[in-house]
Amino acid sequence: MSASDLLVQKYGGSSVANVERIGAVATRIAADRAAGKSVVAVVSAMGDTTDDLLALASQVTGGVLPSAREQDALLATGEIQSAALLAMALQARGVEAVSLSGAQAGISADGTFGKGRIAAIEPKRVREEVAAGRVVIVAGFQGVSGTETTTLGRGGSDTSAVALAAALGADRCQIFTDVTGVYTADPRVVTDARQLQVIGYEEMLELANQGAQVMQTRAVELGWVNGVTIEVLSSFVDQPGTQIKEDRQVEQRNKVRGLAADTKVAKVTMVAVPDRPGIAKSVFDPLATANINVDMIVQNVSHDGTTDLSFTCGRSDLAAARPVLEKIQNEIGARALEIDESVAKISIVGAGIQNAPGYAARMFGTLADAKVNIQMISTSEIRITCIVAQADADRALKALHDTFDLATPDPVDAAARDAESRA
Ligand code: ASP
Ligand code: MG
Repeated sequence: MSASDLLVQKYGGSSVANVERIGAVATRIAADRAAGKSVVAVVSAMGDTTDDLLALASQVTGGVLPSAREQDALLATGEIQSAALLAMALQARGVEAVSLSGAQAGISADGTFGKGRIAAIEPKRVREEVAAGRVVIVAGFQGVSGTETTTLGRGGSDTSAVALAAALGADRCQIFTDVTGVYTADPRVVTDARQLQVIGYEEMLELANQGAQVMQTRAVELGWVNGVTIEVLSSFVDQPGTQIKEDRQVEQRNKVRGLAADTKVAKVTMVAVPDRPGIAKSVFDPLATANINVDMIVQNVSHDGTTDLSFTCGRSDLAAARPVLEKIQNEIGARALEIDESVAKISIVGAGIQNAPGYAARMFGTLADAKVNIQMISTSEIRITCIVAQADADRALKALHDTFDLATPDPVDAAARDAESRA
């Protein structure tokens, strides 16, 4: 079987949310089979099943954190359920199909319950079933560690799918979801946002890390490392999606490829901390121990032997972070602890900006013209990020989308379309 005769697909929770949606997916897969393709499809749990199961867990324990092992044992059933149902729907359409749990599909994960990482895939059974002419439906979001079921972190079915594609030698992995692809900005905020035909792995990673909620970032990393092209497309409408792949035409494209906004962040400032060696460590060590991810760390120039130390973290981490921060404040003798929960993180991303001067200035100028105050700034080689008041976030995004002309088709995409219409 050649790599292109094998389709590895993933259907997200909304794509298998109910009987009707499962039927639609089965019909789509049946059509791929009829066209001579072999299909391996990874599924998420139906709709909000994972959240519902978490709520049940918390009810039976009366709010006490359930054991991580039992929680994984419970959550993994969501995907097993949708996989079996999809296999039945295919069989009812006369298509031979078999569902497999992560373990049966040969997916081994490392030992951390709730945030397992795929350690290896031995998809022997998957290959055998495909060779026997069956569609293989694999329960996503899970692997086995020794004999223990281990889940792969929220959104982990993306990772299951891309890892399986790599293990099976497929050159492509289709991620079916409820949006038609990756956009230049969130179309619910920026009405003239445009769907991208192609985006580079690195650009997609930056966008996803900065709040674009298209895919699990680990899945993009896996695609990048293994050279698997990821296509994000809708299971609701039949139209081409966005390809995430090594982009060899970066130079010809719009330099800014997309905008991301993260409105789930908080800004923390330790005011007037003593400016001496070891202070940053005494702040960030305890936060790391408490498993709190921090981002955008800024330390100001010191005055009179003290300095302000600011950083951002996820708003959902604040409950856990606050007591840790108060303790640190006392220990190091910081004058005050300021926490601002009404901020947003706005980013421009594009591989082309790393060799082009002036993008930071244009971003800051645009925000100034839109009367948006910048509270913090951070950059990577292909990204510039500003923290702004949450109330300003939508206005900032719209202004930046205009400044960088993102509604206008990318030159490479436009040229491709011209060539197509001439042919
Ligand atoms: N069902 C899991 C979740 O909701 C995994 C996934 O959907 O990819 O996070
Ligand atoms: Mg889900």
